[in-house]
Amino acid sequence: MSRRDLLLREIGLSPVWRLRTGMTETAADASPVAESASPAVIETTAPPSVSSPTAPPGRAPAAPPAWLDDAPPPSAPPPQQADEPAPPADGRTQRIHTLDWDQLQGEVAGCQACPLCKTRRNTVFGVGDARADWLIVGEAPGGEEDRQGEPFVGPAGKLLDNMLNAVGLKRGDNVFIANVLKCRPPQNRDPAPHEVQQCEPFLLRQIELIQPKIIVALGRFAAQSLLKSDARIGSLRGKVHTYHGVPLVITYHPAYLLRNQPDKARAWEDLCLARKTYREAGPQQ
Ligand code: SF4
Repeated sequence: MSRRDLLLREIGLSPVWRLRTGMTETAADASPVAESASPAVIETTAPPSVSSPTAPPGRAPAAPPAWLDDAPPPSAPPPQQADEPAPPADGRTQRIHTLDWDQLQGEVAGCQACPLCKTRRNTVFGVGDARADWLIVGEAPGGEEDRQGEPFVGPAGKLLDNMLNAVGLKRGDNVFIANVLKCRPPQNRDPAPHEVQQCEPFLLRQIELIQPKIIVALGRFAAQSLLKSDARIGSLRGKVHTYHGVPLVITYHPAYLLRNQPDKARAWEDLCLARKTYREAGPQQ
């Protein structure tokens, strides 16, 4: 079994389904997963290679599963500007705006701007390439992340790594992974609006310094926080938004995907949309 097949199996997209002759694209799009009640023919061998646009420099291109080649490409309408209120121009926000990378890390490590500082073990600044083209943004650290001080560890982190690998990316190589919140909410409760407001200047400064070309938000909370929206994730997926001038694509959180296997196919569509948007942004350096 090839490495690609192993990756697709790991993110739940293998074995691969193929369109039955005569099946419409619409039908395939509506039921892209193996749990289809009226399945097409299952392939147990590796699907043929497909031509794939150029991968980011230095990375092997990752071919999508066969059924995706037969489906319509993800739509990529012009970026939609989110309704983003200007950040409050208070002294703290302005000061954070002037920090360099090391200063920002130090500021986060010592931050006491919201009550989460009292219950955290470690702040979780983020991990990866500080000049990455890809920025992955999750919700907040969980228990293991709080213990280790790193985002997306454990089974959800492993799935995220496999999702990245499937589109030719690798943690730490042209990818930076961060969260909306840098500290764990107790019992993994939903972050409070005040906590998000206090922590957002750190994420904004990270974006200013990293200058990513594409942001992928993982999960309902990250999407709603960045877009200042209470819309359901299903209505936010499938389109290109912007967050402070950077194209933003929404997909499911890996922890959710571990519990909802069928939605892995939709996550794959989202990653393909992000990759397409990234490539259309122009020549990569
Ligand atoms: S969550 Fe953010 S704002 Fe709150 S204490 Fe941690 S770093 Fe500071």
